[in-house]
Amino acid sequence: MKTLYEKKVVKFGGSSLASAEQFVKSANIIKAEESRRFVVPSAPGKRFDGDTKVTDLLISCHTKSVSGGDWSADFTEITSRYNDIIKGLSLSIDLSDEFETIREKISKGTTLDYVASRGEYLNGLVLASYIGYEFIDAAEVIFFDVSGKFDANKTNIVMSQRLAGKKNAVIPGFYGVNPDGSIKTFSRGGSDITGAIVARAVVADIYENWTDVSGFLMCDPRIVDNPRPISIITYRELRELSYMGASVLHEDSIFPVKLASIPINIRNTNRPEDPGTLIVTSTDGYRTEDLITGIAGKKGFSVIRIEKDMMNQESGFGMRVLKVFADLDIPFEHIPSGIDTMCVVVNTADVKGREYDIASSIQKSVNPDHIHIDNNMGLVAVVGRNMAGQPGTAARIFSALARKNINIRMIDQGSSELNIIIGVDESSFTRAIKAIYKEFCS
Ligand code: ADP
Ligand code: ASP
Ligand code: MG
Repeated sequence: MKTLYEKKVVKFGGSSLASAEQFVKSANIIKAEESRRFVVPSAPGKRFDGDTKVTDLLISCHTKSVSGGDWSADFTEITSRYNDIIKGLSLSIDLSDEFETIREKISKGTTLDYVASRGEYLNGLVLASYIGYEFIDAAEVIFFDVSGKFDANKTNIVMSQRLAGKKNAVIPGFYGVNPDGSIKTFSRGGSDITGAIVARAVVADIYENWTDVSGFLMCDPRIVDNPRPISIITYRELRELSYMGASVLHEDSIFPVKLASIPINIRNTNRPEDPGTLIVTSTDGYRTEDLITGIAGKKGFSVIRIEKDMMNQESGFGMRVLKVFADLDIPFEHIPSGIDTMCVVVNTADVKGREYDIASSIQKSVNPDHIHIDNNMGLVAVVGRNMAGQPGTAARIFSALARKNINIRMIDQGSSELNIIIGVDESSFTRAIKAIYKEFCS
């Protein structure tokens, strides 16, 4: 079928390619439109609750092999995951040689990145064979630089040349190549990034990201039952939500498509008739009434509270405090402050065991009256482009939390009024999200 869109890049997540049955659904979606020309697969994910993703099995093989453990059962499970798919689809492709190469490399102590990347590599081979598209190894078209950073320019030049004039192709997600030829993966969930990179390289009209939910939901479905899907959202709002834990789309997958103004459409492989969520640069021209676009949150934050009388009159106070964090290589998330107090919110994982170093460096640098480090804070982000200029939004959040007896430990509102961040005790994290959802979204 010809559609409005001429060229689409379609990425299928792990659950969309977890079994032969899911492969059939994904292939039907690809074949339903000629425009779905470039396909980015993930590794087989969970088939049911409690199942293990192939990527996790691969990581387990590497971990066990490094510590001298027995990884044969995990490896057999991996090979049978692929063989079941191949058999279920009645394909003639045989992966035995590929399995052997991987097995040998693990035995000889290859890198974790190489091992983890094989889930996508093998699934790409199977999918390419099933739908009859050319297979292009991501190691030939996605590049990292010497410092381990994704090399966007080189990748875009090489990939766009390689894909120019191709009718279609399968490019496995999640990995690329280092300058020394070794494999490097993105962080977990990184196939979303590959999809966005391919979309930019072929200047796609749209990047479709097929997953197991009918779009970006207003709230994590594991916290609130059946949250409403978001029909349209801006890149900026999405980045805020993804960064704060709405894990449906990898937070870094936004940059490549945003650069090229390519919209993303999140769709459900199990309900292809649902329109999903459209992610765009600007919602001008679309009618959107919800005050709040979405809510997300993450646990595991610490607050370092620094108190000093008259600190507001000491010029350079804030700069000296932040320099301490920079020198210790600890990134900060927020810096809410008062007249005589400055708080620095950081990831607990970055400060655990370094509390003494932090406190003594701050002491030396700004000589405060008190320093207090408090762990176990959860941050909840309430995001919405329509909140700007609307009085009373924060008040509604506070009363919703007060009604549930939830104490707010921190508040931070960006001056763009795109989001309000609230810090609560981890023990009230889930209740806080539910209360805010009820207030604004139901
Ligand atoms: P895939 O394997 O297709 O990449 P992911 O597991 O990475 O899929 O992302 C989809 C999952 O993200 C959903 O199944 C859901 O549990 C979770 N999720 C968390 N927050 C949200 C949200 N706000 N909207 C939709 N899904 C969310
Ligand atoms: N398979 C990888 C992971 O499990 C990448 C991805 O699914 O996007 O993290
Ligand atoms: Mg994902």
